[in-house]
Amino acid sequence: MKTSTDLKKRYRLFRLWQQRPYRVAPMSDEQHSCPTCGTNYVGNYCPRCGQSSFSRRFSFKGNLTRFLEEWGFGNRSFLRTIRDLVLRPGYLIRDYLNGMFMAYFPPFKMLLMLAAITLLVSTGFNIKRQNLIQKEQTELEETFSENKTEQEETAVAAPSEKDSGKESADDEKSTRFAKIVSTMLIKGYRFIYDYYSLTTIAWIILLSGPLFWMFRHAPKILGIAYSEFFLAMIWCESMMAIFSIVSIFLCIDTYAQFFILLTPVIPLRQLSGYSYWQTILRYIASYTLAACFIIFLIILSIVGALFYVYFS
Ligand SMILES: [Zn+2]
Repeated sequence: MKTSTDLKKRYRLFRLWQQRPYRVAPMSDEQHSCPTCGTNYVGNYCPRCGQSSFSRRFSFKGNLTRFLEEWGFGNRSFLRTIRDLVLRPGYLIRDYLNGMFMAYFPPFKMLLMLAAITLLVSTGFNIKRQNLIQKEQTELEETFSENKTEQEETAVAAPSEKDSGKESADDEKSTRFAKIVSTMLIKGYRFIYDYYSLTTIAWIILLSGPLFWMFRHAPKILGIAYSEFFLAMIWCESMMAIFSIVSIFLCIDTYAQFFILLTPVIPLRQLSGYSYWQTILRYIASYTLAACFIIFLIILSIVGALFYVYFS
């Protein structure tokens, strides 16, 4: 019994920690004289030229922080933002949308960094030391070549049963139609594969529409603008990228992908203030709406091909 109450207490403390906004370290009241411009001041940065008051000596620790700061990893700690994206993503987004820009690593830069790391782990920096992109590419190539031979076989088989007159013309049209549709679908599928990150971003943009529509009246983000919600989606995308990097690194990518798709429910619940079920239902509904739109586009292009073959 004791351990369970202990766990409950710990969980409550964790929940409190999750919801507490980031606290910036207090300002030192030490007097500084800026080595660059000679201004005397109190604080962490020189008010005249902006130089940091820290690390006047070139210690190793100072050099490390300087190295990180020069690459933009200093103050807005990269690692802290990663930790918060895993442990309190929704509250991080809330803080960021409330204007705590300096507390976190910039969101677009973060997404770009994570995309670079994703590329690194999927091209060999993983426990199997396998180039997963190349492997997928060859597998895809094999599938397509199989499809092609099948298509050629049917194309060869078709003319042998040619009858006379109108029927054969109809046959020809239907084979042409089938060919156009199949090439269209295969090309689309290939495009998604070849430009995976591009299509992911396109999907996020598409998904953000119905998600915004579903969540715009949420109790905790009442009056949120679409542009703000879109930024929240960028953060969600970064969180998913972190999980996907871990799964690719451990080579459990295929099984993890489905669960990773569900993870935005966590930040969306924390951000919106809806219950878990409310959030899950709204999330699934948004997914369905976005998927319906894509199916609608596919049907539209098939109808277009139909008109092209039969009425032109
Ligand atoms: Zn100065």
